[in-house]
Amino acid sequence: MFYDVIVIGAGNGGLTSACLLQKMGKKVLLLDAASQVGGLSSSFKVGRFEFDYVTQPLAFLGTESHHGKLYDLFLELGILDDLEFVNGSSVFSRISLNTEETYEIPLGTSSFLTKMEEYVPGSKDAVATFLEYGKEFSLALSNLKEPLDYEKMAREYPHFQEFFSLSLQQGMDELKIPKKAQDLLSTFWMHFGSPSKDLSFVFYASYLYQILEYGLWVCKNRSTDLTMTLCHAFEKMGGCIRTSSCVEEILFQEDEICGVRLSNEEEIKTKVIVADVSMASVYGKMLPKEKVTKQMRKFCHARTLGPRPFCVYLGLNQSKEDLGIHDYPYYISASLNSNEEVKNMNGVSSVIASVMNSSSDSVSSHTTTLVLQSFFVNDYFTEQVFNRDYRMLENEIAQKLITIFEDATKTNLHDAIEEISIVSPVSYASKTGSVDGAFGYLSKGYDNLLPRLFAHEQERLIPNLYFCGNYGPLLSGSAESYLSGAFVSEEIVKEGDHHEE
Ligand SMILES: Cc1cc2nc3c(=O)[nH]c(=O)nc-3n(C[C@H](O)[C@H](O)[C@H](O)COP(=O)(O)OP(=O)(O)OC[C@H]3O[C@@H](n4cnc5c(N)ncnc54)[C@H](O)[C@@H]3O)c2cc1C
Repeated sequence: MFYDVIVIGAGNGGLTSACLLQKMGKKVLLLDAASQVGGLSSSFKVGRFEFDYVTQPLAFLGTESHHGKLYDLFLELGILDDLEFVNGSSVFSRISLNTEETYEIPLGTSSFLTKMEEYVPGSKDAVATFLEYGKEFSLALSNLKEPLDYEKMAREYPHFQEFFSLSLQQGMDELKIPKKAQDLLSTFWMHFGSPSKDLSFVFYASYLYQILEYGLWVCKNRSTDLTMTLCHAFEKMGGCIRTSSCVEEILFQEDEICGVRLSNEEEIKTKVIVADVSMASVYGKMLPKEKVTKQMRKFCHARTLGPRPFCVYLGLNQSKEDLGIHDYPYYISASLNSNEEVKNMNGVSSVIASVMNSSSDSVSSHTTTLVLQSFFVNDYFTEQVFNRDYRMLENEIAQKLITIFEDATKTNLHDAIEEISIVSPVSYASKTGSVDGAFGYLSKGYDNLLPRLFAHEQERLIPNLYFCGNYGPLLSGSAESYLSGAFVSEEIVKEGDHHEE
């Protein structure tokens, strides 16, 4: 059987690209090594509780009357009528363990600005400028098209080039944003694992602007619902999905891709491959040895692995009101300052806590589904795994996360724990095949969005092989991985047209 395109991995990126390519008239086969689709966008059940692996609500969505780029993508895929999204959170809480400060900050640009002024008098104008630039950068990033017309970019997005090479820290200093406001503005650094001195100013300002403008959303009945809706749309269009189908080798005829070989030795023909898996998996495991070049090894090593998540999924037998917790995310760390936090990080000290009740009708009002997520930004966990009893290590870290949350929020979770599941980087690695359980690469220096986008062409080392998802050109993240599926599909179709011409 010959397919126009084979997609390896049915995570967000793979599923999206499979759907779009099928929609554009290609004959697509989607293969996943696991027995279920979705990769990290799936859920699991423990007792009467169901948990999403990924806890953070979706960015870039918005509503019918005010929509972000993810809304446009789902509209194009024709899946919006089959989905229900609920507002994931309208407020977030920022807590410092060192100083016991707590800030409750609303989403929505004007409420956000008002609150920032209340917490940091005199900050409003500088923060407003930050968000205005964020708006400009988000437009500029959406319109980055190769070859770049620098004069047009400078005319239409004057601050884009000015701030292009600055880190978030440098950009905030340049705008003279007061230090406390800088700390609060940088809260979402925890999703990327990079502190403000490493994150790109352009990327982060655009990201924060879009979160405030379009909100954060969760799919009713969990991310599995979104995954299954995408699968149905793909199959309805004639696409073929095969689970429990692990790709072991990419096959070549002379220098051209000619198919894949699965672990059961089956060979399937294609000339185009989309990989929703890491470069390390493709270059290190799937390519025949003679095809692996120095350049490939160099690119694999040029990047730093992203945060390695460690999550504690808690099924609590009390309502959130009885527990005294709110259904908005808590961002807890020792220091409010991201640079200080990462510098002093030894083990885990930062926690993102999310109450997941609102995303399921089946959650009883007398229970609470709470996920405590932390992450390692270095090799600490990997090193400990080799030197310690694994179960004890997991339990110790889980206990620490629970204590951090209880201390920060002055609550008692222990007495309400009915179910507990611990998912360490080791489990994430076995679920997605990622190196050390990291999601993607760290957004740092060469790994930031703009260098990655600009190096994208150069990094295409094998004709007709494309990467999407966490390892695609748009950085790691739930929303970003869906969008990266669209990005590569457009490229494939464009290059296909070009070849046909
Ligand atoms: C705990 C946690 C918290 C997160 N929090 C956030 C967050 O707050 N905000 C955010 O934006 N993002 C977050 N993310 C990241 C987000 O979940 C991911 O960016 C997104 O789901 C990744 O999608 P993907 O397309 O890269 O595919 P993945 O979900 O990585 O799936 C890859 C798929 O490839 C398959 N596969 C691997 N090898 C093979 C092979 N050889 N053959 C066939 N199939 C193969 C796997 O089985 C898997 O299904 C979080 C992730 C985790 C784990």
